[in-house]
Amino acid sequence: MRDYKALVVDKKDDETEMSIQTLTMDDDLAKDEVLIDVHYSSINYKDGMVAALGQIATTYPITPGIDLAGRVVKSENDHFKVGDDVLATSYDIGTAINGGYAALAKVPADYVHHLPVGLTLKESMILGTAGLTAAIAITKLEAVGLHKEGGPILVAGASGGSGSLSVNMLSKLGFEVVASSGSKENTDYLKSIGANDVIDRSEVENNHDKPVNKPLYQAAIDPVGGKTTEYIIKTLKPEGALATFGLVGGVEVHTSVLPFIGRGIHWLGVDSVYYPKEKRIAAWKRLGEDLKPDILDSQAVTEVSLNELPQTLHDIIDGKTKGRTIVNLK
Ligand code: NDP
Repeated sequence: MRDYKALVVDKKDDETEMSIQTLTMDDDLAKDEVLIDVHYSSINYKDGMVAALGQIATTYPITPGIDLAGRVVKSENDHFKVGDDVLATSYDIGTAINGGYAALAKVPADYVHHLPVGLTLKESMILGTAGLTAAIAITKLEAVGLHKEGGPILVAGASGGSGSLSVNMLSKLGFEVVASSGSKENTDYLKSIGANDVIDRSEVENNHDKPVNKPLYQAAIDPVGGKTTEYIIKTLKPEGALATFGLVGGVEVHTSVLPFIGRGIHWLGVDSVYYPKEKRIAAWKRLGEDLKPDILDSQAVTEVSLNELPQTLHDIIDGKTKGRTIVNLK
């Protein structure tokens, strides 16, 4: 039996309640399960939805945290040995089974993989689901023709976790990046992480008079959805592409077929949750190599303790966080 600290979220009468508790875990593992001493986790919008809004999770009480990285302390799977550094993101971690906001976690081996070369445990959580999603989005854009001479790439929701990492990865790869943000005060920050230009969110939210706009962007990263997606579809250059994966700005998108049949644009969906394992490992490999951001130790990163987590989970829903926030469980 091991005592460990965890954030526990319970839901009563549609209200969620967060508390830091000392829990006890036995050492019994199911077949193919891995027991992990969690060193770091991270905060994603989805964690805020589980903990602050009481949405998405299929069971309560639950320990949220869709990302975790740490060291194997026991394993019922041949692929993982005691002492291995590992990470796990998404699947149903932190939504149906207990997640990374705890010093110990039991996770199915299928969800776990070894820490990629080029990353520390801490860096892997600065990336976390946000970094994996940005990497998948860029990979998908590359597959339909992203190229250095193609002109600017728009990153929406740019000061958020996935947005900030996308800005920096694309800039590091040598692309011209235009960041769209709702926060004017983040202009200097966005330029410091690689944006060539910063535009106000209102420009992409309120520009809907015509079926197509002047073509401006070869590609776009879209963590926002709603009106932002509508604007991007109308504003891509011929054969341009957008990678959509978020819904902070809404889930409904109204479009005509004109940009598709007149400009041949590509609308790509990104789902990091059940992204196939082999491709996921390849994306993580790139995150330790050419896609590794150079902002992993900068103002784009905030570290919080377990005790500071509840407030931060409310903050991400209220749009008050910037860049990536990691949780130190040690
Ligand atoms: P963050 O909260 O870190 O970033 C979201 C950013 O979007 C904010 O920082 C803000 O940036 C902008 N924003 C916030 N509210 C609004 C609004 N009402 N309208 C327009 N823009 C807004 O979240 P994440 O980066 O963790 O996630 C972003 C989205 O992507 C979420 O919907 C999340 O669920 C989704 N996601 C999906 C994944 C998948 O696999 N499909 C994986 C990862 C994330 P700014 O102030 O600069 O405009």
